[in-house]
Amino acid sequence: SRQIQLTAYPKGEPGPDHFNLVEVDLPKPGDGQVLVANRWLSVDPYMRGRMSGMRTYVDPFPLNGPMEGGAVGEVIESRSDQLKKGDWVQSMNGWRDAYVSDAKGLQKIDTSILPPQAYLGIAGLTGMTAYVGLKRIIGLKEGETVWVSAGAGAVGSASIQFAKAMGAKVVATAGGADKVNYCKSIGADGAVDYKATDNLAKSVREAAGGGVDAYFENVGGSHWTAALEVLKPKGRIAACGMIQRYNDASAQPIPDNLTNIVAKSLKIEGFIVIDHMDLLGEFIQDLSGWMMAGKVTGEETVREGLGEMPNAFLGLFKGENLGKMLVKL
Ligand code: NDP
Repeated sequence: SRQIQLTAYPKGEPGPDHFNLVEVDLPKPGDGQVLVANRWLSVDPYMRGRMSGMRTYVDPFPLNGPMEGGAVGEVIESRSDQLKKGDWVQSMNGWRDAYVSDAKGLQKIDTSILPPQAYLGIAGLTGMTAYVGLKRIIGLKEGETVWVSAGAGAVGSASIQFAKAMGAKVVATAGGADKVNYCKSIGADGAVDYKATDNLAKSVREAAGGGVDAYFENVGGSHWTAALEVLKPKGRIAACGMIQRYNDASAQPIPDNLTNIVAKSLKIEGFIVIDHMDLLGEFIQDLSGWMMAGKVTGEETVREGLGEMPNAFLGLFKGENLGKMLVKL
């Protein structure tokens, strides 16, 4: 089988040279084990943290060894009574085309209700992240206004649609006119091209028709600074991610408007989706209802072939994706 390995821990922006496609021998499945052929692989911004060589909330990827990531695949051979040939499973055994694993470590998915790759996107951790941020961290209420940054991305586009389904008003930011139009097409009441404004706070305020009650933070940096301006008193921030900073090779100065946190009594809470899996049942129930009512769809950008994994991953930092970035094998 083939897998992508990390060759060095990048400082600053990673490049194609940090990745290597290698052949490895797979063992035959033993008792209770299955052989799985991956069909869809996920690339996610958080993987950059695992390439830093330091432990964050997860361990770093090993060098010249198998990397991890969300994956869905098909059971090709089974020596387990829990899974049979043809079953579809979800795992963290991404960045490779096949693997052998104990069946009990794998999650079976139902491809009769959703296409398999949806379990890596809208119906998977991506959707769950949007849901947790809005529902639990922000506590979004009907009639409130929320700003969603990286609005045309995977978590962002889910957040826009979920916030609308929850009865909120949404203003989105994204890079480029096409992405702004896309955000509006999925329900954003207003949207701003952050690359085309020299005053992000002012543009967001205009698009929102005033201040915002809440901010769904996916970007950090310039967006974080603007959010401290645009939030109304008692505003809430769900700190989900700060992709603008993931490739920084050195520390950046902190925004000089942090006093707004005090002056406006803002509430800021960071979260990691996997710490909130108790909301999964509620999420699936709400999502099913919203999907059946036609209120929510999952947009995807698809690259083909294992060799495209590094480029797909690096593309996240260049905004090459609309919706969830996936690699199809
Ligand atoms: P996206 O699909 O949103 O892809 C990343 C997007 O970020 C790009 O498309 C690009 O959109 C934007 N972007 C990239 N670089 C910059 C930059 N320098 N400045 C501004 N925007 C930039 O990825 P995800 O939906 O998977 O993740 C979104 C955020 O959520 C990330 O910060 C991620 O780390 C975080 N996350 C957090 C989780 C948690 O548990 N806390 C779980 C999952 C994700 P554009 O073209 O608009 O610039």
